[in-house]
Amino acid sequence: MSITNYKCIGCSAPISFNPKVGGFKCEYCGRTCTEQELQDFVAQTEEKWAEKHAHETHDDGSEVRQYHCPNCGAEVVCGDTTTASFCYYCHSPVIIESRLQGDFRPDKIIPFQIDQKTAVAKFSQWISGKKFLPKDFTVKNQKDNIIGLYLPYWDIDVDVAVNYHAVGANEHRRLRGDREEITTERYRIERGGTMHIPAIRFLSFNKINQHLIHAINPFNAVDETAFNTGYLSGFQSERFTLPQDNAEQQALQEAQQHAVSQLRASANCERILDEDDRSEYTIDKVAYTLLPVYILHYHYKGVDYQFAVNGQTGVAAGDLPTDTVRVSIFAIIIGLIVLILALLGGFFLW
Ligand SMILES: [Zn+2]
Ligand SMILES: [Zn+2]
Repeated sequence: MSITNYKCIGCSAPISFNPKVGGFKCEYCGRTCTEQELQDFVAQTEEKWAEKHAHETHDDGSEVRQYHCPNCGAEVVCGDTTTASFCYYCHSPVIIESRLQGDFRPDKIIPFQIDQKTAVAKFSQWISGKKFLPKDFTVKNQKDNIIGLYLPYWDIDVDVAVNYHAVGANEHRRLRGDREEITTERYRIERGGTMHIPAIRFLSFNKINQHLIHAINPFNAVDETAFNTGYLSGFQSERFTLPQDNAEQQALQEAQQHAVSQLRASANCERILDEDDRSEYTIDKVAYTLLPVYILHYHYKGVDYQFAVNGQTGVAAGDLPTDTVRVSIFAIIIGLIVLILALLGGFFLW
């Protein structure tokens, strides 16, 4: 079966991962279920479903692009990289299992720690301190416009066999009579040994505003856990578009920049000359990781604004509309103050 729909084992209602409970609690009958219970329940109903919908995989085993909601049977419409979403018709959460297999199976995840309501509240707090916002711009009651989304990342550890050579230079100046004498002291810098650079992180999804996501970093490793499909239930999730090879190449470059700047700093001199870094940089391990963000689309006076809230820490970011009238008034006031000060200055000068 290619698509999963977690259901309450008590009443069969669709069930989502609840960040507040850190598990599954049915919104209809209030029953709490464990991931194992849900999976067993899915497994029981899976066989019947697989028989009925055997056509969802082609004879050659390749994946089909059309999925049907196990809850209502309607076609699930989603992007080609989506791994978890909602049924457009019955709103039950669906997980596209076949897109989470093999190389596409994440190793780690930071599950959502804050729920939608809290994310909107965090966002309101963030904008409350901003100047020049139009008075009628409010994000209260935006719960329906906010999407909880798991974004794919590569976390790459790099090992360095250090083999670094350079010349360090320090200048000494001193006065001899009325002449300044400059002597340059040079010494060799030789560095060996090993270094380990852990968790160089790359957002591996290009269908999102990278600057926006960058602004809500970082995430804390404390909530990192092994990946489990259940965490996706009730959220959107995307799989990587940046291939692992590309990320590894970038990680090696970044590791070299990092290592060389540390080696330079260790030399503790004014200038570095004849630098020769022959260190070997190798990939130690790669973890495919999903991280939680809330994306809020806000339509204001014909313009679509996009905001993001970190689904773990609640840090918010985004571009805000500005009230041009208030900005103009502010500019005029500043202009007047400058003018008055200039006139007063002129008055005292006379
Ligand atoms: Zn229930
Ligand atoms: Zn449905």
